[in-house]
Amino acid sequence: MLNRKITYRLYPNVEQEARLRETLGLHQRLYNAALEERIRVYRETGKNLSFAGQCKALTQWRKNSAGLRSVNAQSEQVTLKRLDLAFKHFFRRVKNGEKPGFPRFKSLHRFSGWGYKTHGDGWKLHPGENGRHGKLYVQGIGLVPIRGRARTAGMPVTCEILHKAGKWYASVTLEIETIRRACGTERGAFDWGLTEFLTIATPQGIETVSNPRHLKNQLAELKRLGQSVSRKIRMAQKLSGREKGVAVSANLRKAIQHVARLHAKVARQRKDFLHQRSAELVKRFGAIATEALAVKDMVHSGGAHKKGLNREIHAAAPAAFLQMIRTKAEEAGAWYEEAPTREIKPTQRCHACWKLPDGKKKLSDREHHCPHCGATCGRDENAALVLLRWLEERLAGVTGSGREPSEVWSGGGFAALKHETHAIP
Ligand SMILES: [Zn+2]
Repeated sequence: MLNRKITYRLYPNVEQEARLRETLGLHQRLYNAALEERIRVYRETGKNLSFAGQCKALTQWRKNSAGLRSVNAQSEQVTLKRLDLAFKHFFRRVKNGEKPGFPRFKSLHRFSGWGYKTHGDGWKLHPGENGRHGKLYVQGIGLVPIRGRARTAGMPVTCEILHKAGKWYASVTLEIETIRRACGTERGAFDWGLTEFLTIATPQGIETVSNPRHLKNQLAELKRLGQSVSRKIRMAQKLSGREKGVAVSANLRKAIQHVARLHAKVARQRKDFLHQRSAELVKRFGAIATEALAVKDMVHSGGAHKKGLNREIHAAAPAAFLQMIRTKAEEAGAWYEEAPTREIKPTQRCHACWKLPDGKKKLSDREHHCPHCGATCGRDENAALVLLRWLEERLAGVTGSGREPSEVWSGGGFAALKHETHAIP
């Protein structure tokens, strides 16, 4: 059994929207009340309240509050569970000798939503034809039109209602039995880069996939708007002479909402782009390789020469992209492998003679000139070719250890392996 998440956008009418807001407020107040209770009990007795203890208290609270009674009981337990997790996280970090912030009271703006544990208890999904769009029943709200599509059909298990930048979403977890996705028969390796999004090497040659232009423009717009908001906040601080608790004008609130909306839009489009590109790769290739990326290291440990690249690295989201390919390849029964970077050094090594240069290439060197054999090409092109050669040697059974792809590769695909789970750690 596999779990997949699908996000639907909700289209509530005016009345439903008002009830959604009301429910959000009830969950937010429940969260804060439960936090207050934990603090009070700790001050008075020195003991920590447990999740089970708070669930018991909730039964009492429900008896005394018509508001709480109007909301699905299980979803209220989910809110208590979230608080419990916040505390567990806090104590774990304290234990590790870190200095975490104590779980905070949440304002309505910071409160993202609520969740349900069981399909049919407080919510029910009514997908439309072919799993597209449809309606979502939410207890106390009614039947709300939704837009979205599950890539694979499955049984709904849990649901989260999310409020983001003025819009409502439902994130539904589906339990999936079988996945039907076909993979291709070609083999290819790709390098992820800054100049081009992908440089793909196949036995036929080199191809590139560019970064989407519109994202670049939107990032610029996002930066400009963000700066304008910061300026307005600084101005308000200056005028009031205070750092915190500055009154937010209607104008400023509008500007903040605008930034949040654009942010969400950029994130959504970026995710769509990554889904499309990863689906294309799996559809075409039966064996795909790339370099294992330590993105965290790339972003944080870089010196000054990497600083300007940080935003670009985040914008291209390689970690999310590789995860998408991994999942889709698994669904299709394609062979996907990440080359061990330290051992293979795809950006340093020469694809033609397999030798490493004497000095280290810098990230800013865009060309590959091999001092040993004289091979010359673009840096990303060379890396993709190194990875392709590595993949082909793996398929031929020349290198590596553990379960070898060569055991199942028949030149045209992994016929014997289709729909069988496999992964090389
Ligand atoms: Zn060479």
